[in-house]
Formats: sequence, C-alpha cells, structure tokens
Amino acid sequence: MDIRFEKREVLKDKPDQKNLGFGKYMTDYMFVMDWEKDKGWTDARIVPHEPISMEPSSVVLHYAQETFEGLKAYRTKSGKIQLFRPDMNAERMIRSNDRLCMPPFPVDMFIEAIKALVKVEEDWVPSEPGTSLYIRPFMFASESALGVHMANAYKFMIVCCPVGAYYPEGINPIKILVEDELVRAVQGGTGFTKCGGNYAASILGQVKAEKMGCTQVLWLDGVHRKYVEEVGTMNIMFKIGGEIITAPIDSGTVLAGVTRDSMLHILKDWGYTVREERLSIDDLMKAGHDGSLEEVFGTGTAAVVSPVGELVYKEDTVTVNNFQIGELTQKLYDYLTGIQWGNVEDKYGWMMEV
Ligand SMILES: *Cc1c(COP(=O)(O)O)cnc(C)c1O
Repeated sequence: MDIRFEKREVLKDKPDQKNLGFGKYMTDYMFVMDWEKDKGWTDARIVPHEPISMEPSSVVLHYAQETFEGLKAYRTKSGKIQLFRPDMNAERMIRSNDRLCMPPFPVDMFIEAIKALVKVEEDWVPSEPGTSLYIRPFMFASESALGVHMANAYKFMIVCCPVGAYYPEGINPIKILVEDELVRAVQGGTGFTKCGGNYAASILGQVKAEKMGCTQVLWLDGVHRKYVEEVGTMNIMFKIGGEIITAPIDSGTVLAGVTRDSMLHILKDWGYTVREERLSIDDLMKAGHDGSLEEVFGTGTAAVVSPVGELVYKEDTVTVNNFQIGELTQKLYDYLTGIQWGNVEDKYGWMMEV
C-alpha cells in the first residue's frame, strides 16, 4: 500500500502524561482512505488531524451506517512500541462491515495502516506506567444521498489519542445496574458488531444507571430479559463455585471481545473450568446471596479488567467479595497487562512490534 504523507506545519504540544484521562487529546495526524463502488480502496494518506467537511446529506448522518474498532499501542520499558492482537480487531471489523453492508477493509491493510500511523506518532506513545496510545479505526458511508440503501462511497479513518490508566487510583470495584426493561441486542440484529447505532441505543440505559448511582449497565438477553449478556463496552465474567462462566458469543447478541478471548485462553491454561454458557439473572442473584458467587469482572480494551463490587437488579442488591477486587481478577489484570507492556513473557505470541 502506498501511503501519501502530508506534513503539518506546527505540531501540537503534548499533554501531561500524568493527566491524560481517556479520549481527550488527539494526536497530530490521522489515516484516511476512500472507497468507491467502481474503484475500491484508494488514496491511502496520513494527514494532519483536523475537522473534515461533509455533505449534510451524507448517508452516515441519517442512517448510521458506521462501524469502529478500538485497540492500543503500548511502550515497553526498553522503548519498543507494540500492538496487542491487531488481527483480531481487523477481522472483527470485517464481520461488522459485512452485517452493515459496508465493504471489507482487508486485514493486511488494516495492520499496515495502524503501524504506519503509530510510527509517525511515535512520540505520542506515552511511557508513564499504565498509559498507552488508544487507536480508533472507523468507517462510515460518505455518499451524499437521502434514501435508505447501500452507499456507493465510504471513508476508512484512524485517529489516536494517548490515554491514562483507565482508573487512575488503580482498579476499583464498580456498581452495575442490571437493566430489566431496555434491551441492547436481539438475535438477527447487530449486537455482535461494533457499530455506532448499538451505542446510540444504549445511552438511555447508561443515563438510567448513573441516576441510580451505578457506573455501568448489565444487559440481559433481548427476548426473555432473563440471561446475562454483557456490559456497555465490556464482556462480563463470573466466578461461581470456583468455575468461570461467561455468555457465549454464538447467539450473535454479544460482542466477541479480544480481551474476553485472551482471558479465556489464560484461564483455561491456568486450569480453570471455563463455561461459555447462558446464565440466568435469577441464578446469578441466588449465587450472590448463597455465597457461591466469588468474583465478577468486566473485560475490554479500555480498562482491561474491571472488577464488579455490586449488582443491582430490581429491588435486589448483591455485594460481590465485600466490594473488594478479587484475587483472580487482580491476577488476570497483572498477567495480561504484563504481557501488553512487555514485562511478562508473551508466550501466546500476541504482541506485534510496530
Ligand atoms: C468493545 C466492546 C467489548 C470489548 O471488546 P475488546 O475487544 O475486549 O475491547 C465488549 N462489549 C462491547 C459491547 C464492546 O463494544
């Protein structure tokens, strides 16, 4: 792939690495490529990160034909920069695009584009403990036309931002509201894709959760509102009676998280029984009350692991592990972040040097 480079006149000032937050500071450059029906993908370019102009009748603004991904670049102690399983993100984006009738962006081009952009933005990859460069590839229908249809023009872009430790004070347990009214996904829908529309529809649940003093929503299945599926931007795992249970992804209603897949590999290697099975909310609350529910944690790229300290479902509340981070949750966090920052041997071959 030939990538054109357009230099910026003046580079931005870099933010204080101790105060990065999440998604606040965009880097100097972005990657852009166009797709047209007769031409395919053309004009790969790395250009200054700045506002783009769009036709108000662009298909994405009306019918939300948009998909995205999220991954990180990590700086190791020796100064190397590495990506975590970027091929998984590339493949997932192809599955998302397929469902939304958007053209695939090939895996090799996806990885090449990310590597090229991260190389240009090398100095933006932070080195403070717990920090990384968050990478956001996304694609949208840019054709100007009203009328619901498969668009004949798309844009693929990548933007980056340095991010801090998701939880600056370390990983602390969160409170979660089990949503018993609104639903996120149904079989046959778009639940397995990372498409903007899924998140637009989830914000009301998030607002409701926050009003009740919770940080996140735990979604139940869309048909029976009975089986536990996932959290807003994380998959969720339960340790019950020594075994790990998490929702299966073959229903098409749960996002196939890269972190989820990695955790399942590690847990199996550590000798845990891992069950990818449906778990009803009633059984979960029961396990919470009878003491067999030992640990609960969310998994996702942003926070890696997020311990859950409390589950609120209707009138019932369950406290998990006395609102303390569980032993296994902490061990998983330390091990996986150890691999990502290059402090633990990468025995699975998950890291890719930039
Ligand atoms: C992104 C996301 C996840 C986590 O996926 P990772 O690849 O581990 O970051 C889980 N659930 C939803 C709904 C998501 O959007």
